[in-house]
Amino acid sequence: MSHEWGYDMAISRRGMLGAVVGCCFMANGVEAHSSPESAATPPSPRVTLQILGSGGPMHMGGRGTSAYLLWRATKPALVVDMGGDTPTALARAGVLPSQLAVLAISHMHPDHVSGLPDFFWGEMTARRSLPLKIIGPEAGDKFLSIDGLLDKLFSASGAFPDLASLVSGNEFRLNIRPTPGLRETVHDDMGLKIRALKVVHGRAPTIAYRVDVDGYVIVFAGDQTMSNPHFTEFASGADILVAHAIANRAVEGHALDKVVATPRSIGRTASEAKVGRLVLSHLIGTGPTTPDAQYWSLTHLPTVIADISEQFRGRVDVASDLVRYTLDPSR
Ligand SMILES: [Zn+2]
Repeated sequence: MSHEWGYDMAISRRGMLGAVVGCCFMANGVEAHSSPESAATPPSPRVTLQILGSGGPMHMGGRGTSAYLLWRATKPALVVDMGGDTPTALARAGVLPSQLAVLAISHMHPDHVSGLPDFFWGEMTARRSLPLKIIGPEAGDKFLSIDGLLDKLFSASGAFPDLASLVSGNEFRLNIRPTPGLRETVHDDMGLKIRALKVVHGRAPTIAYRVDVDGYVIVFAGDQTMSNPHFTEFASGADILVAHAIANRAVEGHALDKVVATPRSIGRTASEAKVGRLVLSHLIGTGPTTPDAQYWSLTHLPTVIADISEQFRGRVDVASDLVRYTLDPSR
């Protein structure tokens, strides 16, 4: 079952939530699939961004925690973030833990790292032969560095000492790379280049990633305010900018706008960076009676999209779990 592009946009703009079932659309060399049937089928020989989760804490609408999978042809090349349900999402995408070569962590909030023990437990039986590179932030304020977190979890005196041999023994090789995120290249191998930039997300040291692969650029903005003046240049010309639309306009002038982006700042950044397509993820909400419910993106999604679109005239997508965006040079 397939539909043209406009069908999906119409759904998004009406604010209908949850996974779009059985939808497929394509335009401007970008093709998106969201049918559960196709989600576990390896993509054809192109670069494909697959949304592993499009939500965040509270999981309104059943959305998984925000995480992303980059395919090069039929090979999984990169995973960004590892929330509690990301190992399950990877399985739904048809990926074994042992197939991953690079994992990039944006920051140390639980919705972005709490799947690590489960992921490593899967490694125990997956018999990894590839080395695994793990990139993540340095320590700051009350937050651990990526190597500090792995040590707390998996060292002999950590929470899961049974897994200590995986990370410190000879089960497989880990290459752990804490990064200060100063616009540096943190990975450059076999045509996959990843650069990191530290962005503002309250007190949590947080990294945005720019990925150059096979002639395409995908930028993962992560949880952030869009207030780092270097971020626009960092994201410039991206074929896809994945932005975390966590809040609606009610956070403007509120303390929360020092932690997350306002819709207008997302739209303005996408416009100034001249990105090809803006994908909105990390969509959250709560029941109407909970404190702060009025601030979150899913509470007023049509307004969020309108505020963003007022600033950014390009294509805006609302992500769904397991949806794929394929960048295809032949289109
Ligand atoms: Zn988050």
